[in-house]
Amino acid sequence: MTDRVAVIGAGPCGLSQLRAFEQAKSKGAKIPEIVCYEKQSDWGGLWNYTWRSGTDEYGEPVHSSMYRYLWSNGPKECLEFADYTFDDHFKQPIPSFPPREVLYDYIVGRAKAAGIRPWIKFNTAVRLVTYDKNTGKFSVTVEHLPDRKVSTETFDWVVVATGHFSVPNVPYFPGIETFPGRVMHAHDFRSADEFKGKDLLIVGASYSAEDIGLQCYKYGAKSVTMCWRTQPMGFKWPQSMEERPLLTKVEGRTVHFKDGSSKDVDAIILCTGYQHHFPFLTDDLKLRTHNRMHPPHLYKGIMWIDNPKLMYLGMQDQFYTFSMFDAQAWYARDVILGRIKIPSREEMLKDDAAWVKREEALKNAFEKIDFQGDYVRELCAAIDYPKFDIDMTIAEFKQWEHDKQHSILGYRDKAFKSPCTGTMAPLHHTPWLEAMDDSMRAFLAVKQAAAE
Ligand code: FAD
Ligand code: NAP
Ligand code: MG
Repeated sequence: MTDRVAVIGAGPCGLSQLRAFEQAKSKGAKIPEIVCYEKQSDWGGLWNYTWRSGTDEYGEPVHSSMYRYLWSNGPKECLEFADYTFDDHFKQPIPSFPPREVLYDYIVGRAKAAGIRPWIKFNTAVRLVTYDKNTGKFSVTVEHLPDRKVSTETFDWVVVATGHFSVPNVPYFPGIETFPGRVMHAHDFRSADEFKGKDLLIVGASYSAEDIGLQCYKYGAKSVTMCWRTQPMGFKWPQSMEERPLLTKVEGRTVHFKDGSSKDVDAIILCTGYQHHFPFLTDDLKLRTHNRMHPPHLYKGIMWIDNPKLMYLGMQDQFYTFSMFDAQAWYARDVILGRIKIPSREEMLKDDAAWVKREEALKNAFEKIDFQGDYVRELCAAIDYPKFDIDMTIAEFKQWEHDKQHSILGYRDKAFKSPCTGTMAPLHHTPWLEAMDDSMRAFLAVKQAAAE
């Protein structure tokens, strides 16, 4: 009988998995039966923007953490699909830092071209996955949300592609319950317009803090104060933005910091990261980790060592995104197709331990970029994913880090070269700081006019 594979989630990772199988099929391979479960009504994962926050129309936690006016925070060249390039999709070179709608169009553009939508069961939340040692099969129980119908099917393989930037990590600060203004986590942030003319406090010192802070500055916040726990971001902020040591307590609208200073603010946004959360997996199958470059106990960063028929995609902290997800999905596919043999438990543990050891010695972002570049390179060496210039992506990530150090307001105005096609990106028609309209139409507008 044909093997059955359950893919949980139709975000970028889940779509990479479906595309990997479809590619093998188009080359003549016999592929297993694939069923992808997606709890949202459409594909794209976090990139499928919603105005909702909190719970959705079915009482489910809203998945997306993306917000209006979100632009790519890394060069698109470093995430390009090697089998479906930006040139393939847009038929013209486009600038390096697209807004969300443009990247969404690119992600779903490949999925549409591959014809994989019929494999996806939308509005269907996975509730429970169990493994039966006697039969060697997984039971997957799902709920079809519109009619609340619950059903269970068995599978030979399960691929978890549910993301890990959706369930907020929300720390407590003494007195925060007395704050008279808005307190929210980055997960619920949707529109910077709300903070126009306001004094804003942001807790956290990573990508969300940086980007939500900049975004509120761009759309007219009066001041943005960001506070850090381990170390500040250290960028050259514009005058109305600053970093202070961590928040210690809140008294009314006055917030106090570790250095003894204080400030009156109108709103607090907790940019304090996310939790890896898999409520649908039994304990023996559940990955437990914080956000890191190599979550332990995953062979090749993918296979659950205690039961390698369970795969996880995209669970790493991410410099690389879509191309890394592809490399993982192609690798997972080849394991399922029997093209790559699952090694002994001892070998898997040894390989995993070596990556963990290397990760624990990483000192800065540049070393993390090398680390993840090497990881992607190792996966790509084992699969038939089209070749792309990984050394170029590493160099571009490092250039991007330098650009950010040089100008945190201007780094998105730079252009990069494609590691897949060699195409040099054009500069965008408007500097990011002045580009208030983030629609795809506005982003591509001048290019289209020039082409006519
Ligand atoms: P997700 O995109 O989270 O998709 C997971 C899918 O699984 C969702 O569709 C969800 O509905 C579904 N799902 C979850 N649980 C269940 C269940 N129980 N049953 C059924 N379905 C389920 N990356 C970049 O490359 N560039 C960027 O500019 C960028 N910006 C980002 C901005 C923000 C605010 C965040 C939070 C992340 C950003 N990222 C960015 C990183 C992001 O992680 C990846 O781009 C990508 O979305 C990860 O894909 P994924 O498939 O792993 O997860
Ligand atoms: P993150 O990178 O995991 O960072 C979490 C931050 O929260 C860290 O600074 C951490 O501080 C801090 N933190 C955690 N617990 C804390 C506590 N108890 N007190 C104080 N600080 C605490 O998460 P993220 O910044 O939300 O980024 C998640 C993902 O979203 C990334 O992949 C990023 O690229 C993406 N993103 C992209 C964009 C975009 O522009 N396209 C925008 C936003 C986010 P320590 O350093 O002390 O641990
Ligand atoms: Mg996915």
